[in-house]
Amino acid sequence: MRNVVIIGSGPAGLTAAVYSARANLSPLLIEGREPGGQLTLTTLVENFPGFPEGVLGPDLMDNMRKQAQHFGTEILNGFVQKVDFSKRPFKVWHGENEVEAKTVIISTGSSAKLIGIESERTLMGHGVSTCATCDGFFFRGKKIAVVGGGDSAMEESTFLTKFATEVNVIHRRDTLRASKIMQDRAMNNPKIKFHWNTTVEEVVGTKDTGVSGLRLVNVQTKQKSQLDVDGLFIAIGHNPNTEIFKGQIDLDDLGYIRTQPNSTRTNVPGVFACGDVQDPIFRQAITAAGTGCMAAIEAERWLEH
Ligand code: NAP
Repeated sequence: MRNVVIIGSGPAGLTAAVYSARANLSPLLIEGREPGGQLTLTTLVENFPGFPEGVLGPDLMDNMRKQAQHFGTEILNGFVQKVDFSKRPFKVWHGENEVEAKTVIISTGSSAKLIGIESERTLMGHGVSTCATCDGFFFRGKKIAVVGGGDSAMEESTFLTKFATEVNVIHRRDTLRASKIMQDRAMNNPKIKFHWNTTVEEVVGTKDTGVSGLRLVNVQTKQKSQLDVDGLFIAIGHNPNTEIFKGQIDLDDLGYIRTQPNSTRTNVPGVFACGDVQDPIFRQAITAAGTGCMAAIEAERWLEH
């Protein structure tokens, strides 16, 4: 029987682990398929406070992991495939094992949707990014492209014009999904160019030299073209990692866990959610860490009562 089981090992889960370990709750953290979460897919992180020179995403996560272990968190390399929150103690299954828990902190994060081509994975963090807020700064004075036609793509394109000399929006249809106000803002921006009915076939570049261009195809005419850019931002949406919680806990229409205002409490007393799995808006390491801290404090108080 565990006091606290934390599911997920990004900034939210590891911060929850640091706080609950320091509260003497001997937490068990189950890492998941992508130990360290989305930050392990990036290179330099310049917006996490405390690192004036920046810090490599994988190093930051490695340090958080060590810090959580240092205070007594037990970290298991495993993947949770089933939970039962219908009665207490809660049950969590990973591999062949079943764990009982007095409280559970869910920090399974979300995954950025990708186009589905090999080169985007190879060059992720080397010119390909899924986060304009995080990486826009690296493209000052450069030409870049953004894939997508929704609110995220319009918001990110507009934001990226602060840095880039030219932002090329590549959209697979000839109409945008984004709200009218976001469309107007992007369309009225002289730095943004639209490439309609177009998809990315390949990102050209190497890990050492970064991105040098894109091979594009017009989906209607099948005509191929090359676009010289230094970076590609993929803004085609995110999927919260909540598959195993369906039917166990309240989710919103997009699949994110619903938490109560100013709290990480879910609709199940004793189950808390923090980080991107409950946040479709900010999606930052620092906000995830902040809600991880909240979840640990709330779990501790809940146990106390
Ligand atoms: P979204 O609304 O689902 O839009 C995804 C876009 O990516 C669509 O244009 C879609 O094309 C395109 N796309 C999807 N898969 C693709 C693929 N494999 N290859 C190429 N293109 C692909 O996602 P989102 O923009 O991230 O927004 C998610 C939610 O957050 C929305 O409800 C949005 O309103 C909200 N949001 C709001 C704000 C704001 O108000 N400030 C900012 C960001 C997001 P199709 O159009 O052809 O389907």
